Amino acid sequence: MPYSLGEDEVDAVRQVIEKGYLDRYINGDDSISSQFEKEFSKKLKVKYSLAVSSGTAALICGLAGMCIGPGDEVIIPAFTYIATALSVLAVGAIPVIAEIDTSLTLNPEDIKRKITKKTKAIIPVHMHGLPCNMTAIMQIAKRYKLLVLEDVAQACGGSYGSRHLGTIGDAGIFSFNHYKIITCGEGGALITDKKIFHQRAIVQHHGGCIFEPGFTRLGIKAFAGWNFRISEISSAILRVQLSKLDSILRDLRKEKRIILDCLSNVVSPFTFCPIHDEEGDCGRVVFLQFTSRNQANTFFQKMKLNNINAWFVNTKGHVYSDWEPILKKRGAHHTQRDPFQLSKNSLNISKNSFPQTSSILQRVIGISTQIGRSRKELRVLTDVLCNTIKESY
Ligand SMILES: *Cc1c(COP(=O)(O)O)cnc(C)c1O
Repeated sequence: MPYSLGEDEVDAVRQVIEKGYLDRYINGDDSISSQFEKEFSKKLKVKYSLAVSSGTAALICGLAGMCIGPGDEVIIPAFTYIATALSVLAVGAIPVIAEIDTSLTLNPEDIKRKITKKTKAIIPVHMHGLPCNMTAIMQIAKRYKLLVLEDVAQACGGSYGSRHLGTIGDAGIFSFNHYKIITCGEGGALITDKKIFHQRAIVQHHGGCIFEPGFTRLGIKAFAGWNFRISEISSAILRVQLSKLDSILRDLRKEKRIILDCLSNVVSPFTFCPIHDEEGDCGRVVFLQFTSRNQANTFFQKMKLNNINAWFVNTKGHVYSDWEPILKKRGAHHTQRDPFQLSKNSLNISKNSFPQTSSILQRVIGISTQIGRSRKELRVLTDVLCNTIKESY
């Protein structure tokens, strides 16, 4: 990734530059960014979208939209990109970490154990395109009156049951950075059906909206926000990328199917990680679960010898044990803005705090799918993969 960028994106960027308007609000809100938002809302069947400058910005706008702040706790998984935790701190709240299970997503049982009087929201993260157990999570949210902000940064276009990921909870966020399913380099979006969350997010992302001509139509009081605006260049790229989303997902899912079919035909030392909705999975990675780290490592070394790009899922930055600012409880640039200092919370976490997550992640290996790979290249991959397994086990 991103192999899906091409001439269409180049043309779209050229048009923006030739027109000369790079700021989305320069002509009121008659902008490419607002066109993208309309198309994104339509695609995901949701009322409101707000394009922003990054996935992290989208998380912050989502939490600000929900009015989450000092004194609040937000439950997040121990396996996610650190931005999920950082955004909670950015609005002044405390990220409370919960275990994942073998689906590599939030373990609903552990969510329940982490709920306190201060809990306001849950952020389920659909890691690597894998849908969380949204049925269980929404039940818990309903029972304890918690808000749900879905982190769909890695799963754009994925679904759960009949609904798109990001539309099941109260709001959803996306990232369009270089590594995500569709990309504009850096970018993000917030989606929601709740008008007030959308309105507050607009204020949050646009410096309090003092320049926004249509601001009065928002009908809410301005407050001090930041600048998380998206550029028209990014939105122009995103519009093209969105039009390719279906075909990108089709390619990824087809590759995954072929790899799975090949692996199912060999006697293997691993099992596949369970998926809460196989059809809704974006198809980005095939996850193999071993019974021990040793066994996983032996397999990993064999794959490496045969030039197969397999990887351990506990990659840098994506596991709680790597989150130094959280482990060390340095929650802001200034102690008086640091939620860890302000709330006399007893959250004490160390590298060993989430044994279930650590144990799972150290013995799960991923094999990524790719878009734009030829049939022949894929054939070579599956042949080498399966022959290596047949010879070794
Ligand atoms: C990428 C990512 C983010 C943050 O997105 P940025 O665009 O890099 O700010 C948040 N959550 C998850 C799960 C991600 O993978």
